Amino acid sequence: MRVSDIPGDFDHVLYTEEQVASRIREVASQIDADYAGREILMVGVLNGAVMTMADLCRAMTSHMSMDWMAVSSYGAGTKSSGVVRILKDLTKDIDGRDILIVEDIIDTGLTLSYLVQNLRSRNPNSIEIMAMFRKPEAVTCPLDVKYVGFDIPNEFVVGYGLDYADRYRNLTDVATLAPHVYQS
Ligand code: 5GP
Ligand code: MG
Ligand code: MG
Repeated sequence: MRVSDIPGDFDHVLYTEEQVASRIREVASQIDADYAGREILMVGVLNGAVMTMADLCRAMTSHMSMDWMAVSSYGAGTKSSGVVRILKDLTKDIDGRDILIVEDIIDTGLTLSYLVQNLRSRNPNSIEIMAMFRKPEAVTCPLDVKYVGFDIPNEFVVGYGLDYADRYRNLTDVATLAPHVYQS
């Protein structure tokens, strides 16, 4: 689904499907160059990273396998508390592996900080992060993010895997929502 299919639901478009696809290809080439000759275990964070994972790994030429985790932040409110519960753990052993965490968006960075710490304790050879989007606040968080799709302003966006109330993940563009969507 594109923004033009239900234009009334959106305020403004940050990135079109074409811009996202083009950036994905750039990041994929960068990853291929960095991991030349190594096999990557890509760890996607459900559900938001599904689209990024699907497009990124198909644009890569490196050998890779994939695994998935689902996490949830404790605490009410729209800000994550930094306390993370693992809802679905990896199925693979990551001991000695080169891990690339694939995440939809980094806001405060609290979720990923926890995840990195957790995975590090399982003794992988390396851990890097690819985040499709990153907000300015994340810059203040001590998180070394090697690959970023786009740095975006501090506003709530949907599309390309990102949801509002579990909707809009299937939007291929990335956009902000019209106020009436929040009110209904
Ligand atoms: P953090 O721990 O970095 O603050 O939270 C990251 C998580 O918050 C993301 O994985 C995502 O689920 C959610 N999130 C943060 N910003 C946005 C946004 O602009 N749109 C959507 N849909 N989710 C967001
Ligand atoms: Mg996420
Ligand atoms: Mg969400």
